[in-house]
Amino acid sequence: MIRGIARKFFEGKKCLFCDNYGLYRLADKRVKCKHCNKYYSIKKLKRDLKILYYFYLEVSAKKTAGEMNLDYGVVHRKFMQFRKSIADYCNTEAKKLNGKLEMDESYFGGKRKGNRGRGANNKAIVFGILERKGRVHTVIVPNVSKETLMKEIENKTLKGSVFYTDGWKSYNSLHQFGKHSVIKHSEDEFAKDDNHINGIEGFWSYAKERFHKYHGIKKNNYPFYLKEMEFRFNNRNESVFNLLFDTCVRRRV
Ligand SMILES: [Zn+2]
Repeated sequence: MIRGIARKFFEGKKCLFCDNYGLYRLADKRVKCKHCNKYYSIKKLKRDLKILYYFYLEVSAKKTAGEMNLDYGVVHRKFMQFRKSIADYCNTEAKKLNGKLEMDESYFGGKRKGNRGRGANNKAIVFGILERKGRVHTVIVPNVSKETLMKEIENKTLKGSVFYTDGWKSYNSLHQFGKHSVIKHSEDEFAKDDNHINGIEGFWSYAKERFHKYHGIKKNNYPFYLKEMEFRFNNRNESVFNLLFDTCVRRRV
């Protein structure tokens, strides 16, 4: 996978940023593009690509540092930089979700189980909207009030969609945006009909499993880890490595 990308960019002929031919070498061995005027080091590019490959495979920063004989801090900073690029990429997605939408909130981090509507015990409250057979959108919210959730729904979904939620009171006025279907959690867990939120619950499991793998994520970094999960989930059928390369490396070296 790396080799395919390498052939294009490691020879130092094709520009990493604008895809044009016409690079020349500077005295310090970096290459500069005569079209877009950007310059970079091919040696550093090779290193970054290798770090990205471990990131893609979900190898920890610690293990990657060991494998590559690099300082842990260097790899961790790179990983965080990748996550920030991914978050930027996710946040520019302007297309609204529509069709059959499942919505739910979940609590990330901390040891104690969160209490909905009351204090979240130092947890991050995440609100998620999942388009069936499509994308998921997540956002860390300050609370699960009607005002907070309805604002997100209004910004991120198309009117006329079908909304599936549980019976939480903040969703009570959803009918103003489209059809609202309230599921009954305990009774209908294995319901065969459409009335469920199994999709978004599946995403929570997916994301939480990964959160547990990284012990002690700093709370400030939660949004970036969350967007990484969103990105991986939404592109699960794509060539994720190539997409990561475009998102994380080509936009910033
Ligand atoms: Zn260029």
